[in-house]
Amino acid sequence: MAEGKRAWIELDMDALRHNVRLLRSMLPAGCELMPALKCNAYGHGAGIVASELQRLGVSAFCVASAEEGKELRRAGIRAEILVLGYTHPGQFDLLADHELSQTITELSYAEDLNKYALCFNKKINVHIAVDTGMHRLGISYGDILSISAVLDLKGLCVNAVFTHLAASGGSDELSERLTKLQLERFGKVIEELGAQGHRLRSHALSSYGLLRYPEAAGNYARTGIILYGVLSERPEDTMGFKAVLSVRSRVAQLRELSAGASAGYGTDAVMKRDGKLAVVTIGYGDGIPRVLSSGRGKVLINGFEAPVFGRICMDQMLVDVSAIPDVKAGDIAVLIGRSGEKEISVYEIAEACGTITNEILSRLGPRLERIVKRAGRERH
Ligand SMILES: *Cc1c(COP(=O)(O)O)cnc(C)c1O
Repeated sequence: MAEGKRAWIELDMDALRHNVRLLRSMLPAGCELMPALKCNAYGHGAGIVASELQRLGVSAFCVASAEEGKELRRAGIRAEILVLGYTHPGQFDLLADHELSQTITELSYAEDLNKYALCFNKKINVHIAVDTGMHRLGISYGDILSISAVLDLKGLCVNAVFTHLAASGGSDELSERLTKLQLERFGKVIEELGAQGHRLRSHALSSYGLLRYPEAAGNYARTGIILYGVLSERPEDTMGFKAVLSVRSRVAQLRELSAGASAGYGTDAVMKRDGKLAVVTIGYGDGIPRVLSSGRGKVLINGFEAPVFGRICMDQMLVDVSAIPDVKAGDIAVLIGRSGEKEISVYEIAEACGTITNEILSRLGPRLERIVKRAGRERH
């Protein structure tokens, strides 16, 4: 129960299950979900989300770091976990100890990992990243020699080759051209490896890629943001996906102020007329962007909008409740989500901050407790 909590995240597990069903219906034959649970499952809480997905039969996950992979193992996840990012040789132990699959970024890196594996008599699972044009991690698509050299390393077990698309969300001509080019290059790599007798699994798509180029999925779809029911930017059509997360906090105290009084840090936030402020128990230390200060952001209390007053503090904020009847200490203040007939979507916040939903969600901090909500009930 949320009873007594200062500030928390509520997870709608029915929405998560619904999103998984919807995504699965979009997968071509032979393709499975490999949900991206990096950065604490985009702020939602990696352990809770992963456990639910495991119950739904999801058999592979991806994360950004070996530490994140270790956390998922601790949460009881037995499925394959792919580390998408670079793991320093000083942390190769984490890969071996927790049976994580590591992304191979270049041949020399694969050789280092292979040496480690042979030295400790282990076999490390890897996926080879192929750079087809994004120019982030990966072996260049033209360097088939290096890619096949990785396949020959005895300490490594290559589970798949993959690539990442730089512009799969763009519907402009340049983006579509780059995406097609990347997919073509990736297709050629798979073909050439096939000609050498290597039949490998492959994956290429994240959320936008799956929505726009499902035919290119290969064996896994590395869906992140869409799993949580939103896209990076507000789409014209939400396609039936449901937001999983809401953020709530409390009214701590109410204060009647006269016109001209200032409140909060600094002297610049001044009451324009007599009114009432509420102190709310959440701040930028919890991941609420401070740029939402001074009326750029708002909260919902009892189904009414209360604009942020003055500067958001680390642990608290002031909101103007002059127009809201009967607010009292202990009332719930909604930062993201519904209250009565009103809703604040994560799109609204991202737009007010000039960023994408991924950033707003992933910065939601560890101080927020994650609470599971199922079919109208709340469960801790
Ligand atoms: C983060 C990430 C994903 C997931 O991206 P979304 O756009 O959130 O679906 C997939 N693949 C890689 C390599 C990533 O870094």
